[in-house]
Amino acid sequence: MIYLVEHFYSIQGEGRYTGRPSLFFRFGGCNMRCEGFGCSETAPDGASVKGCDTVYAVDRRHFGAQWLCIEHRDELITIMNGYTLPPKVDIVMTGGEPLLYADNAVFVAFVEYLVGAGHRVTFETNGAMPVDFGRFPVYRECIFALSVKLANSGEPFSRRVRPNAFVPIATYAKESFFKFTIDRDSIGVNMEHEIDGITHYAPQLEVFCMPMGGTRAEVEANTEAVIGFCKARGYTYSDRLHIRIWDANKGV
Ligand code: SF4
Repeated sequence: MIYLVEHFYSIQGEGRYTGRPSLFFRFGGCNMRCEGFGCSETAPDGASVKGCDTVYAVDRRHFGAQWLCIEHRDELITIMNGYTLPPKVDIVMTGGEPLLYADNAVFVAFVEYLVGAGHRVTFETNGAMPVDFGRFPVYRECIFALSVKLANSGEPFSRRVRPNAFVPIATYAKESFFKFTIDRDSIGVNMEHEIDGITHYAPQLEVFCMPMGGTRAEVEANTEAVIGFCKARGYTYSDRLHIRIWDANKGV
């Protein structure tokens, strides 16, 4: 069984494929909490839950009752068929942490269906969950946006930086890239060394940096500092279009 939090057809707002029309599947659950991102959301029971900008897809205890239990890949295909989509539209698997389900038979079957139908499938992952490329060769045909978490996430190093998970992805996947979330206060406080300490494991990957924030105002406040950081380090700036346009990260 896998948990689906939401699905929506929009444009990709971050990373290498920014602007591409994409059908998003947001799966529930995560191996981290990232309270350092300083976002909070009111749960159906009235509790204010702290975490990242998608805490509603992370915290099963407070939000799980709203998640949809998926028991067969055809349920996901039926959801897809409910949209009017261009042929072979990009599919984005996000969360939460979608690779929590990397070994799940329903999840793998859906990925195999998508790849077989010619869709470009991208996983937005924290890069800390292993993928078994030997057992599930379909993942070799997919793209992985590796958002390895930095100290500003509030997560302990041993949980957020797992080369044993992201180096095989960088090695065997058709395509992958790093995507870091940066706030202006962390720049200059060892940020260069922190990123070097992650990217040296896979120096062939392009590095994208994007401004931290769960609201348009927060993203705007961090933008210029992140652009300056990218210029100094030769990284590629990534905006967060969905937040800048819709001032939200949910359902867009
Ligand atoms: S890893 Fe991603 S989805 Fe999970 S808590 Fe951190 S920011 Fe949120």
